[in-house]
Amino acid sequence: MLPFVYEALPSRVVFGAGSLQNLPEEVDRLGATRALVLCTPEQRSIGADIVVMLGARSAGVFDGAVMHVPAAVAAAARDKARRLRADCCVAIGGGSTTGLAKAIALTAKLPILAIPTIYAGSEMTPIWGITEGRVKKTGRDVLVLPKTVIYDPALTTSLPVALSVTSGINAIAHCVEALYSKDANPIMSLIAEEGIRALASGLRAVVKQPRDLEARSRALYGAWLGGVAMGAVGMALHHKLCHTLGGTFNLPHAETHTVVLPHAVAYNTSAAPEVMERIARALSARSAAEGLFDLAASLGAAVSLKSLGMRREQLDQAADLAIQNPYYNPRPVTREGIRSLLEDAFEGRRPRVE
Ligand code: NAD
Repeated sequence: MLPFVYEALPSRVVFGAGSLQNLPEEVDRLGATRALVLCTPEQRSIGADIVVMLGARSAGVFDGAVMHVPAAVAAAARDKARRLRADCCVAIGGGSTTGLAKAIALTAKLPILAIPTIYAGSEMTPIWGITEGRVKKTGRDVLVLPKTVIYDPALTTSLPVALSVTSGINAIAHCVEALYSKDANPIMSLIAEEGIRALASGLRAVVKQPRDLEARSRALYGAWLGGVAMGAVGMALHHKLCHTLGGTFNLPHAETHTVVLPHAVAYNTSAAPEVMERIARALSARSAAEGLFDLAASLGAAVSLKSLGMRREQLDQAADLAIQNPYYNPRPVTREGIRSLLEDAFEGRRPRVE
């Protein structure tokens, strides 16, 4: 067995249909009395419901969370938290909302209670990101790790099927890269494999019956495990590529992850054969890359970068950018290899693993 380092992150998780009811007592448990509720403009009405639930424990709401935490939005939210004398943030929504809470926590040191309504996983990580202009600065600080997370699958029944699928495959990507991470350890690998299994079976059931609570519970359970894995160990080629494609070509976050994942896995297949066996086993597939491609296609997701609006003439620039800053990956990253991976992802070709 290879030597490893394992470090558990401190967070409290309350999971189950109807667990939102525990919100007031969970805020009390944090020792907080004035919660600032955060949400996106699209989730304004659920933000308002949370304010009602919190009653006297609510200091107010900031409903301007948007993708990638623009610095100006973070500043406005921090300002509101200060003016309202908030002593904690309740973030309801996805990675954009949790990300905003983290930006507040980073400077104002307010504890976060997160209520995920999508499969982002950000609520389990100490990773923050703030965007200035077109550049997203990211960092790790345990200060931004939510102290409490309430996972209530009932809140995810409203998530449109297409978004459920791509967000769920994004969560599978966290599990996949945790398995071949440079920091991989046996506990995180157990978590990651179980996450893939739960997400794949949960998503297949969600597509058939989007309002089924058992299906939603399985998918959200898998998303939680993906968040734990991503928070504990470093990611690799897949995340780097998606970050580049999203940031430079403004491609949609979860959809891009969905298209790229089978190709990043195909690229890494020869360098991490045992990991690939675990992924294939979790998907009940012949190989990891083929299984991931078939899963996305069978769930009705887009499988090519061209269908997401990328243009062929951008592929060379994407390959140049993706090799600019060296980073860990099980198989060495070469310009030629990445260019060919991108070509396959652009066309939406099914990977073939011998
Ligand atoms: P998001 O938070 O932007 O949500 C997408 C849309 O779905 C929003 O309009 C949101 O209001 C809506 N939505 C969420 N739940 C819903 C529901 N149940 N019903 C209907 N609509 C719902 O998207 P995301 O993919 O969750 O997050 C993406 C962002 O999070 C990116 O900026 C990404 O970089 C970041 N992220 C960060 C980490 C981290 O560890 N720091 C991890 C994952 C993602």
